[in-house]
Amino acid sequence: MLQPRPWSNGRVVLLGDAVHATAPHLASGAGMAVEIGIVLAEELARNSSVAGALRAYEDRRFDRCRDVVESSVAIGKLQLAHGAPGQIAGLIEGALHRLNAPY
Ligand SMILES: Cc1cc2nc3c(=O)[nH]c(=O)nc-3n(C[C@H](O)[C@H](O)[C@H](O)COP(=O)(O)OP(=O)(O)OC[C@H]3O[C@@H](n4cnc5c(N)ncnc54)[C@H](O)[C@@H]3O)c2cc1C
Repeated sequence: MLQPRPWSNGRVVLLGDAVHATAPHLASGAGMAVEIGIVLAEELARNSSVAGALRAYEDRRFDRCRDVVESSVAIGKLQLAHGAPGQIAGLIEGALHRLNAPY
Protein backbone atom coordinates (compact mmCIF):
# COMPACT_ATOMS: atom_id res chain seq x y z
CA MET A 1 0.00 0.00 0.00
CA LEU A 2 2.34 2.68 -1.27
CA GLN A 3 0.87 6.11 -0.67
CA PRO A 4 1.40 8.68 -3.43
CA ARG A 5 3.49 11.75 -2.73
CA PRO A 6 3.45 14.09 -0.93
CA TRP A 7 4.06 12.33 2.39
CA SER A 8 3.85 15.59 4.30
CA ASN A 9 1.61 18.57 4.72
CA GLY A 10 3.06 21.63 6.38
CA ARG A 11 4.95 20.38 9.43
CA VAL A 12 3.14 17.01 9.54
CA VAL A 13 5.05 14.11 7.97
CA LEU A 14 4.26 10.42 7.53
CA LEU A 15 6.75 7.56 7.56
CA GLY A 16 6.97 3.80 7.89
CA ASP A 17 3.96 1.57 7.33
CA ALA A 18 1.75 4.67 7.26
CA VAL A 19 3.05 5.37 3.76
CA HIS A 20 4.62 2.10 2.55
CA ALA A 21 3.08 -0.92 4.24
CA THR A 22 4.34 -3.89 2.28
CA ALA A 23 3.65 -7.57 1.72
CA PRO A 24 6.08 -9.70 3.79
CA HIS A 25 7.99 -11.35 0.94
CA LEU A 26 11.21 -9.36 1.39
CA ALA A 27 10.90 -9.03 5.20
CA SER A 28 11.94 -5.40 4.83
CA GLY A 29 9.09 -3.34 6.30
CA ALA A 30 10.85 -2.69 9.60
CA GLY A 31 14.13 -2.03 7.80
CA MET A 32 12.44 0.59 5.65
CA ALA A 33 10.87 2.18 8.73
CA VAL A 34 14.25 2.39 10.50
CA GLU A 35 16.00 3.79 7.41
CA ILE A 36 13.31 6.38 6.91
CA GLY A 37 13.70 7.62 10.48
CA ILE A 38 17.45 8.04 9.91
CA VAL A 39 16.95 9.87 6.60
CA LEU A 40 14.31 12.17 8.08
CA ALA A 41 16.64 13.08 10.98
CA GLU A 42 19.55 13.70 8.56
CA GLU A 43 17.50 15.97 6.30
CA LEU A 44 16.02 17.95 9.19
CA ALA A 45 19.56 18.47 10.55
CA ARG A 46 21.09 19.59 7.23
CA ASN A 47 18.29 21.75 5.74
CA SER A 48 17.59 25.30 6.82
CA SER A 49 13.83 24.96 6.21
CA VAL A 50 11.40 22.25 7.28
CA ALA A 51 9.76 22.29 3.82
CA GLY A 52 13.15 21.71 2.14
CA ALA A 53 13.99 18.92 4.57
CA LEU A 54 10.70 17.12 3.96
CA ARG A 55 11.09 17.41 0.19
CA ALA A 56 14.62 16.00 0.36
CA TYR A 57 13.43 13.20 2.68
CA GLU A 58 10.76 12.17 0.18
CA ASP A 59 13.18 12.41 -2.75
CA ARG A 60 15.55 10.00 -1.00
CA ARG A 61 12.89 7.55 0.12
CA PHE A 62 10.12 7.26 -2.43
CA ASP A 63 11.76 5.12 -5.13
CA ARG A 64 13.44 2.80 -2.64
CA CYS A 65 10.20 2.18 -0.72
CA ARG A 66 8.29 1.73 -3.97
CA ASP A 67 10.84 -0.89 -5.03
CA VAL A 68 10.28 -2.86 -1.80
CA VAL A 69 6.49 -2.69 -2.09
CA GLU A 70 6.37 -3.57 -5.80
CA SER A 71 9.02 -6.30 -5.54
CA SER A 72 7.24 -7.89 -2.56
CA VAL A 73 3.96 -7.96 -4.45
CA ALA A 74 5.63 -9.41 -7.55
CA ILE A 75 7.30 -12.17 -5.50
CA GLY A 76 4.03 -12.98 -3.74
CA LYS A 77 2.10 -13.15 -7.00
CA LEU A 78 4.69 -15.44 -8.54
CA GLN A 79 4.56 -17.73 -5.50
CA LEU A 80 0.76 -17.89 -5.69
CA ALA A 81 1.04 -18.74 -9.39
CA HIS A 82 3.50 -21.57 -8.54
CA GLY A 83 6.25 -19.80 -10.46
CA ALA A 84 9.56 -21.53 -11.08
CA PRO A 85 11.78 -21.46 -7.95
CA GLY A 86 14.63 -20.01 -9.98
CA GLN A 87 12.45 -17.16 -11.17
CA ILE A 88 11.27 -16.41 -7.62
CA ALA A 89 14.85 -16.54 -6.32
CA GLY A 90 15.89 -14.19 -9.12
CA LEU A 91 13.29 -11.60 -8.08
CA ILE A 92 14.37 -11.85 -4.42
CA GLU A 93 18.07 -11.64 -5.24
CA GLY A 94 17.54 -8.67 -7.55
CA ALA A 95 15.57 -6.77 -4.92
CA LEU A 96 18.08 -7.57 -2.14
CA HIS A 97 20.93 -6.49 -4.41
CA ARG A 98 19.23 -3.12 -4.99
CA LEU A 99 18.54 -2.80 -1.23
CA ASN A 100 22.27 -3.20 -0.58
CA ALA A 101 22.87 0.15 -2.29
CA PRO A 102 23.55 3.08 0.03
CA TYR A 103 20.42 5.01 0.96
C1 LIG B 1 3.65 -10.78 11.23
C2 LIG B 1 4.62 -9.71 10.74
C3 LIG B 1 5.95 -10.07 10.49
C4 LIG B 1 6.86 -9.10 10.03
N1 LIG B 1 8.14 -9.48 9.79
C5 LIG B 1 9.04 -8.55 9.40
C6 LIG B 1 10.41 -8.91 9.19
O1 LIG B 1 10.82 -10.07 9.33
N2 LIG B 1 11.27 -7.93 8.82
C7 LIG B 1 10.87 -6.65 8.63
O2 LIG B 1 11.70 -5.79 8.29
N3 LIG B 1 9.56 -6.29 8.82
C8 LIG B 1 8.66 -7.20 9.19
N4 LIG B 1 7.35 -6.83 9.39
C9 LIG B 1 6.93 -5.46 9.08
C10 LIG B 1 7.26 -4.50 10.23
O3 LIG B 1 6.75 -5.00 11.45
C11 LIG B 1 6.63 -3.14 9.93
O4 LIG B 1 6.97 -2.73 8.62
C12 LIG B 1 7.15 -2.09 10.92
O5 LIG B 1 6.77 -2.45 12.24
C13 LIG B 1 6.56 -0.72 10.58
O6 LIG B 1 6.98 0.18 11.57
P1 LIG B 1 6.16 1.50 11.83
O7 LIG B 1 6.88 2.19 12.94
O8 LIG B 1 5.95 2.23 10.56
O9 LIG B 1 4.71 1.04 12.30
P2 LIG B 1 4.29 0.18 13.59
O10 LIG B 1 5.38 -0.74 14.01
O11 LIG B 1 2.94 -0.39 13.26
O12 LIG B 1 4.16 1.27 14.71
C14 LIG B 1 3.05 2.15 14.77
C15 LIG B 1 2.80 2.42 16.25
O13 LIG B 1 1.83 3.46 16.35
C16 LIG B 1 0.94 3.12 17.39
N5 LIG B 1 -0.32 3.85 17.15
C17 LIG B 1 -1.28 3.59 16.24
N6 LIG B 1 -2.28 4.49 16.34
C18 LIG B 1 -1.91 5.35 17.31
C19 LIG B 1 -2.52 6.51 17.87
N7 LIG B 1 -3.70 6.98 17.44
N8 LIG B 1 -1.86 7.14 18.88
C20 LIG B 1 -0.66 6.70 19.32
N9 LIG B 1 -0.04 5.61 18.82
C21 LIG B 1 -0.67 4.95 17.83
C22 LIG B 1 0.79 1.61 17.30
O14 LIG B 1 0.33 1.07 18.52
C23 LIG B 1 2.24 1.20 17.00
O15 LIG B 1 3.00 1.01 18.18
C24 LIG B 1 6.42 -7.78 9.84
C25 LIG B 1 5.08 -7.43 10.11
C26 LIG B 1 4.19 -8.38 10.55
C27 LIG B 1 2.76 -7.98 10.86
